[in-house]
Amino acid sequence: MTALQIIPFSPPRIDQKIIDAVTETLKSGWITTGPKTKVFEKMLTAYGGHQSTLCLNSASAGLELILRWLGVGPGDEVIVPAYTYAATANVVIHCGARPIFVDSGEDLNIDIRSVRKAITTRTKVIMPVDIAGLPCDYDALNALIREAEILKIFSPSSEPQSQLGRILLLSDAAHSLGGWYKGNRVGSLADVTVYSFHAVKNLTTAEGGAVCLNLPLPFNNEDVYMHLNAKSLHGQNKDALAKFQVGNWRYDIIEAGYKCNMTDIQAAMGIVELERYDDDMLPARQQIFTHYTSLFEGKKWAQLPEYESSDRRSSYHVFALRIHNITEMQRDDIIQAIFGSGVSVNVHFVPLPMMSFYKEQGWDMAQFPVAYDNYSREISLPVYYDLNADLVERVARTVINAVEEILDRK
Ligand SMILES: *Cc1c(COP(=O)(O)O)cnc(C)c1O
Repeated sequence: MTALQIIPFSPPRIDQKIIDAVTETLKSGWITTGPKTKVFEKMLTAYGGHQSTLCLNSASAGLELILRWLGVGPGDEVIVPAYTYAATANVVIHCGARPIFVDSGEDLNIDIRSVRKAITTRTKVIMPVDIAGLPCDYDALNALIREAEILKIFSPSSEPQSQLGRILLLSDAAHSLGGWYKGNRVGSLADVTVYSFHAVKNLTTAEGGAVCLNLPLPFNNEDVYMHLNAKSLHGQNKDALAKFQVGNWRYDIIEAGYKCNMTDIQAAMGIVELERYDDDMLPARQQIFTHYTSLFEGKKWAQLPEYESSDRRSSYHVFALRIHNITEMQRDDIIQAIFGSGVSVNVHFVPLPMMSFYKEQGWDMAQFPVAYDNYSREISLPVYYDLNADLVERVARTVINAVEEILDRK
């Protein structure tokens, strides 16, 4: 018997082009934040259609820098979905503020009516997450934060909050680089949008993230960029590249900042990946989504994810299959059977109110019935550049066998 090839969940695309770009950077004499990072930032700004981009070592750092720039702290509230990765809420805790969880909709994204109900005089930020790569309803979110009743109760407690005069819309776009909503690309749909380039994301720099600035007047997005850039480098008013210029050694510390800059080694990977993202990566992922959809379409038990409509288009990040009428335990049994046949799957996500830390903060999953229902019936299937049609068919066959075996046991 030949050994079964295990199908991984989401390996990075590391080909000769990436290896060459990294090698060239290593040999160039400049490996930390420098010319490559600045090029990557310019490319991302043109790509997303927003005003300015700051690259960092993670999306988490980007979300936290923005909260700190806005002066979010003790006594403040930030509305986040219950159904997301821990980073979204943990950064709020880091700042001493309180994440307020809200329920999801059928499309897995934050439910707008629940967001409205959660708004108080303490709300400073709404942080929607484009789950699986599908953009949230940004027209509804942008309209909500500008409603007269909601503007009236907004109580600023910092200079940027007063300048904005309303709740900030901060999009966690860790999944959705390249997604579209009503003719605009993710990056320009909210006041600030944060991408992740973590190893499992669509575009990876091993670790990395970017803050896309799209703030309205009176903000100058270039000034905010300079401020955040210093904040990401210990509050130093010159970065390493600027200091490297002959005779330009003296610098000042304007605040006790953090250390979360991107290196040029990471940016070198990002440049290669972004150059081929629209013509190569996204079509490959779209093909996989379409193929899975055709293979599951005839199955009555299969609830297929939304990824394209007239209003919005996914970045095809996670193929979130749900199974109708099963319990959380049956889902876990199905996953076990799939793994037993050599296919790696995942669950996006275990909702945060189910996690020990957030339970101890008083959250109860019973308050989020839709998020629980979505989570308890969800299985994320492998999607990655090198997953060819034969492998997609093997995954689908494996999933179908596992589901039908467990359903037959009833
Ligand atoms: C991956 C992820 C993040 C964090 O990204 P990092 O770059 O690892 O900090 C944040 N939010 C969501 C929804 C994610 O999936």
